[in-house]
Amino acid sequence: MPALVVAALGFVSLRQWARSSELLFEVQARDMAAMAAEKADLMLRGAEDEILRRVRTTVAGGADAAALDALVAATPLVKRLFLIDRGGRTIYPGDRRPGDADVLAALGGAAVGTLWEHGGRRQLLAGDHAVLASVVDGPGDTRVLAAILCSEEVLRREVFEATFKGLGASTVVAVLDHRDRPVYSRGSLDGARPMLSVPLRAGPPQWRVALYQPAGSSARASVRRQLALFTVALGGLVVVIAAAAVVTYRLTRREAEAAQLKADFVANVSHDLKTPLSVIRMFAETLELGRVRDEGRRHEYFRVIARESERLSRLIDNVLNFSRVEAGRRTYELEPTAIEPLVRDTLDAFAYPLAQRGFKVEVSVAPALPEVPLDADAVGQALANLVDNAIKYSDERCTVRVDARLADGGLALSVSDEGIGIPGEEHARIFEKFYRVGRSDTQGRRGSGVGLALVRHVAEAHRGRVTVESEPGHGSRFTLWLPLT
Ligand code: ADP
Repeated sequence: MPALVVAALGFVSLRQWARSSELLFEVQARDMAAMAAEKADLMLRGAEDEILRRVRTTVAGGADAAALDALVAATPLVKRLFLIDRGGRTIYPGDRRPGDADVLAALGGAAVGTLWEHGGRRQLLAGDHAVLASVVDGPGDTRVLAAILCSEEVLRREVFEATFKGLGASTVVAVLDHRDRPVYSRGSLDGARPMLSVPLRAGPPQWRVALYQPAGSSARASVRRQLALFTVALGGLVVVIAAAAVVTYRLTRREAEAAQLKADFVANVSHDLKTPLSVIRMFAETLELGRVRDEGRRHEYFRVIARESERLSRLIDNVLNFSRVEAGRRTYELEPTAIEPLVRDTLDAFAYPLAQRGFKVEVSVAPALPEVPLDADAVGQALANLVDNAIKYSDERCTVRVDARLADGGLALSVSDEGIGIPGEEHARIFEKFYRVGRSDTQGRRGSGVGLALVRHVAEAHRGRVTVESEPGHGSRFTLWLPLT
């Protein structure tokens, strides 16, 4: 739920962010265009002022055609200069070039009339070109109309280039003429997307400063890219949260299972301690009271007490060794050991319970087995745990078979029974600490669940292994394999 809420909130705020950043981008672009137009106006007006000042000084001095030619030649921005008197006669230049007719025709219109009366300056369209017109004083009290055809090339190079030099590079700035043709552009216009334009107040009429989005870098696209990036990151976050939830759930479940197993372990061990203790106490008290007169019975009681004490010691040894293993403190001392006495001693310890439950015991130790380097106490205890289990988990068919032979270049000690057997899917788990098939009570047999864990530890400490072959109802066969060297 929190992950979904985070995802939803994240998505909504991302969309809002995308919208507001587009808006911000537009506002910034508008500001930038206005600023660029203002700067261009200032530069254009400055250039016009300078040209008109030069024309005025030259004309006021009564200049002849040669002086005017020199002025045009010395002012690159002036492509062509015309001087026209009040009667409409062209005083300068003497020659005619293609296009001049357009200019002269434009200067005959009413637009120029106001210039004669009120002075000032005006930008006119003559054919396809812009002409700057102004009435200036000639020698004496004559006045002439000066018309200047500006060189677009020089305008581009000297005015616009200087004006837009320091502008940011994220957008393309261009100047468009009255037919929307780019006169100047800072950066390539190929594939660029027009954003907005601001008209120029100075300079040729209907010229505009326009802003373009360079190809492949629109504001929307970059916002979208960021949006996609954030969405992926957010998705990743949600996945991580979900995965963490699953992992936490599993860990918690495992912890709960482990806690349950430990609780079972404590209950089982306590019970296993109590049973032999109460038997010992009962028989000892009976003997103490001197009520048993029959020597044979008394002997029997002593054997019970001895057997139960042995069981107690085995159980306590198991628990102590297990806690040593858990603490990493269990050490093993390997010494060359004869196998047959080891097997026999182990089985002897079980002579009474085996006999009492009528077990058929088969022992087979391969002849001429070499001495094997092992920790006799540890391996004896492992073997005892296997025999104990064989007795514990047998019902009607009471047979225990212990088999020692050489196999795979090592010693194989097998303990087989014809008891209840173990389902295949449990084979791996029965060697885990505290694990008992179907938990403890379902099988009606007490146990601590650490016996096989200890067997496996002993096997691995000897660089060997323990394996199980078993089927429910068909008995089990545990094999402890230890290397010979
Ligand atoms: P426990 O103290 O419960 O016997 P172990 O670690 O010795 O603990 O054994 C783990 C589980 O493996 C037992 O609870 C039992 O279910 C199963 N098991 C072990 N040996 C045998 C066997 N010979 N036959 C059937 N089941 C066995």
